[in-house]
Amino acid sequence: MSVSDLIARYPDLMARCLNLSGTTILITIDEEYKITFCTDSLVQQLHLLHKPTGTHLGSVLCPLEEAEFFLTISNSSKKFLPQLFRLCESNDLYRCYTFPIDTGYLVWGDKMGSTENEILESMSHLNNELSDMSRQLSKANRELNKKNQELEWANEKITRISRMDYLTGLSNRSYFQERLKEIFALTKRHGLEFTILLADLDHFKRINDTYGHDMGDKVLQAFGTLLANECRTEDLPARYGGEEFILVFPKTHASGVITFYERIRRELIHSDLLPDPDFVTFSAGITEYEEGGTEISLLKKADDALYEAKKNGRDRYVISS
Ligand code: GH3
Ligand code: MG
Ligand code: MG
Repeated sequence: MSVSDLIARYPDLMARCLNLSGTTILITIDEEYKITFCTDSLVQQLHLLHKPTGTHLGSVLCPLEEAEFFLTISNSSKKFLPQLFRLCESNDLYRCYTFPIDTGYLVWGDKMGSTENEILESMSHLNNELSDMSRQLSKANRELNKKNQELEWANEKITRISRMDYLTGLSNRSYFQERLKEIFALTKRHGLEFTILLADLDHFKRINDTYGHDMGDKVLQAFGTLLANECRTEDLPARYGGEEFILVFPKTHASGVITFYERIRRELIHSDLLPDPDFVTFSAGITEYEEGGTEISLLKKADDALYEAKKNGRDRYVISS
């Protein structure tokens, strides 16, 4: 297609092209993109001394990003496909249309208004700000997740500590009572059995008085450790207060708990907690769960049995009737 064909085909467009203002450029190139003709407006825009005839189009128009130079050819009369280029050595953007002609191509470029340039520039600024913000947001989210995790750990620790007896590390009385309620509910619903053992160290006041309060504490710790080590995972040992300890043995009859009592007693006698020939003993009240029983009645029975064991001479157990 020749330039005159183009004028016939795109009269309005060509009228605008030929009525060239300083903001429109017209360039013809050969098949190898070498410039064969250009309007004076290009020479002015580039501040050249003469037309860049014979040079590659790429030395005049630069792709927007570091991309390979290529032209989008508008070969349909209905659809003009523009392509954005930057005029080399300047920041000016040109919207270019390329048409095939007999000797190669005709490139018609229209300088985009400065407002459009500004819009593009502010869009790029906004994009950068958006990336910065999303980076900061990700960082803040990561820190928030970390803080949440730390808070969760701190809460778990607080819960653990609030359930624990500070001296022996066993469950404390209030957590024991909480658990006992659950065990009661389960037992009633599923018809299970369990037994409790209430233990009290014998003549503990004397141990404190003879060997000192620190030694008393050590005996309490050792007794607590012994109970925890000798019972099963599903059993629940707790410090009930002072030198009193309590254990729940789920799915266990009194006979099984007696075996436990004897084991602990033997261990204590053979331990070297106190200087020879002294040793630690304890008394215990053992109570099996009975249908219709309540937590209060069960604990009362265990307490009565313990009292009985003390009355009968200590260093023994009594099974409540
Ligand atoms: P019994 O055989 O009748 O149980 O006599 P006991 O001396 O063990 O009983 P009593 O109730 O008269 O004394 C309990 C003692 O336990 C008194 C108290 O000072 C001591 N005690 C309670 N808690 C602690 C503790 O945390 N550490 C120490 N070292 N002693 C404690
Ligand atoms: Mg006591
Ligand atoms: Mg005692």
